[in-house]
Amino acid sequence: MNEIPKNIQNPKLKSGQRFSYHKQGNIHVLHKTQQPTIKINNPIFHKKISRGSYQYSNTKGNRRSRIEVQGIQNKTTFIKNKTNLIPPPEKGVIRIIPLGGVEEIGKNMTAIEIGNDIIVIDAGMQFKTEDTPGIDYIIPNTTYLEERKDKVRAMIVTHGHLDHIGGIPLVMSRIGNPPLYSRNLSILMMKKRQEEFPHLPLLNTQTIEKDSVIYAGDIHIRFFGVTHTMPDSLGIVIETPYGSIITPGDYKLDQIDGVVTPKEEKEYAFLDKEKVLLLMTDSTNIENEGFALPEIKVHEGLEKLIKQGTGRIIISAFASSITRLTKIVEVAESFGKKVILDGRSLKTNMEVCEQAGIFKPKKGTIIPVEDVDKYPPNKILIMMTGAQGEEFSALSRAANKTHKKFTIRSGDTIILSSSIVPGNEIAVQHLKDNLSRHGVHIISYHTSEEYIHATGHGNQEDIKWLHRKTHPKFFIPIHGWHSMLVKHKEIAMSLGMSEENIIVPDNGSIIEIIDNGTKMILRKEKAPSGPMMVDGFSIGDEQDVVIRDRVMLAQDGMFVLIATIDSVTGKLRKSPDIISRGFIYLKENQELLHQVRLIIKKTVEDEIHGINPINFDSIKTALGDNISKFLFQKTAKRPIVIPVLLSI
Ligand SMILES: [Zn+2]
Ligand SMILES: [Zn+2]
Repeated sequence: MNEIPKNIQNPKLKSGQRFSYHKQGNIHVLHKTQQPTIKINNPIFHKKISRGSYQYSNTKGNRRSRIEVQGIQNKTTFIKNKTNLIPPPEKGVIRIIPLGGVEEIGKNMTAIEIGNDIIVIDAGMQFKTEDTPGIDYIIPNTTYLEERKDKVRAMIVTHGHLDHIGGIPLVMSRIGNPPLYSRNLSILMMKKRQEEFPHLPLLNTQTIEKDSVIYAGDIHIRFFGVTHTMPDSLGIVIETPYGSIITPGDYKLDQIDGVVTPKEEKEYAFLDKEKVLLLMTDSTNIENEGFALPEIKVHEGLEKLIKQGTGRIIISAFASSITRLTKIVEVAESFGKKVILDGRSLKTNMEVCEQAGIFKPKKGTIIPVEDVDKYPPNKILIMMTGAQGEEFSALSRAANKTHKKFTIRSGDTIILSSSIVPGNEIAVQHLKDNLSRHGVHIISYHTSEEYIHATGHGNQEDIKWLHRKTHPKFFIPIHGWHSMLVKHKEIAMSLGMSEENIIVPDNGSIIEIIDNGTKMILRKEKAPSGPMMVDGFSIGDEQDVVIRDRVMLAQDGMFVLIATIDSVTGKLRKSPDIISRGFIYLKENQELLHQVRLIIKKTVEDEIHGINPINFDSIKTALGDNISKFLFQKTAKRPIVIPVLLSI
């Protein structure tokens, strides 16, 4: 990363653009190459990509500049997925595009397009899966919106959970940074997350309340409050000429034994008079019968356990269960206990809550983990991250004795106040085994007599209640795996909706309400929906070569060959060295190695023959091809072959 030579005047380069230059006397001659798709103002640095080739960047040479490199890769995506062919919605048509969250749990995002205006609801993320090794997380595909940036009037966020805000920093920068509306806590959560992306433009945040009305272009939007594990959660009402579109975000009902509380009834009361054109709602818990357990029962259960506990109490809950975490501190305070917060996400979330005025611990309640032994055991409550058995979490480190500041002791009580996310069963079992070896008392979700965990999403009865309350003309199930969406459709039909008024979408489905709000159709075109993988600070699409390499490495290992070429004779100096990892046992495959060495020798000599100077690149390519082919024939495996040439 160097400063640009002063004598290249006004090069008119954009960030992400590649260029090279050569010197003619005192003048640098500039060659521009690829055009970037992301424009970033004031590029002042450039970095070397290969000899003589550079790329503009507006950040100094840290890892974060990698995002600009993607400006070029994204262009490929853009061409591949060109969506300009999809015409804008006709006059009077309401277009709805679920861009994420309808073929998975996570990365929620839905776009609504009416006339010349697009509004976007949520921009979540999904954590990596087994198919995406080494990837940090996945965000929804924004191509459709990127190509229509000028029409995007607003991003509206229902609440501050990562499956709704995790994609915000990268998504906002790609769709033209429109005004971002949400309630106070969610806005603070997003700002906190944005701090991790200092190279991206600041968010244009607009704090709203549940009685706010916003005008996004010609679209009017109202709100209502919903009950969820995150305070400040919002439901959204989008007005259209044919009735309103209702989407409550994540919600469960505040109810006791199936009777919705008066406070909750009041929040939803407006629906009695509302003409609802379309309901779009969460399917996460569609397979669970009855009502979801209200959070108050969990608060009561935890209070009882905290009161009974004789030794130190360690509680591990999701860092996203904000309402519960603040309640636990309150209860601890009421029993004169000191509280330790251990784990980064937990601390960050509680800090943000304190800033938002939702969490108000008394002075001296929260103590640093270092002070744990200054108080008697019955005066200590520790909240830790890691109930999913996450390898480097506070609780896992404590369990396997690698926690630098905290040691678990016999007599401690450990409450795992969460369900097990599918896929984490074995990790949680290991965690419990490790904890058991310390002679502690473990209370977990399924073994506890008290309620210690409740979901934040409504079960079947909560969902049915909402359908009855909204009595929509059309229905689109969202948030969940495909089979859950189908189940949700069946439940809607059991409540009397007709099948033609329901569409189960895929990510990128283009749904339209046409004919003056009388008909809902699925268009044959689709918005690009391939997941965007985020690896560190760079984004790539599914075919990213890096991921392919990781899959190959994981499956078939690697095979490195090192050949030394005598540049005078054009022959190999000695027998090539071979290193392999995760592929075959070299010792047991001497015959195969012997043949590989012969192929290397022949390939090198064929490539060198008659060519001067030696073209190392072409030798490497030929070696890679020939050896890969040979290894596949012999072993049916495709290790990554890395040829290394030395010349003396
Ligand atoms: Zn949520
Ligand atoms: Zn959610």
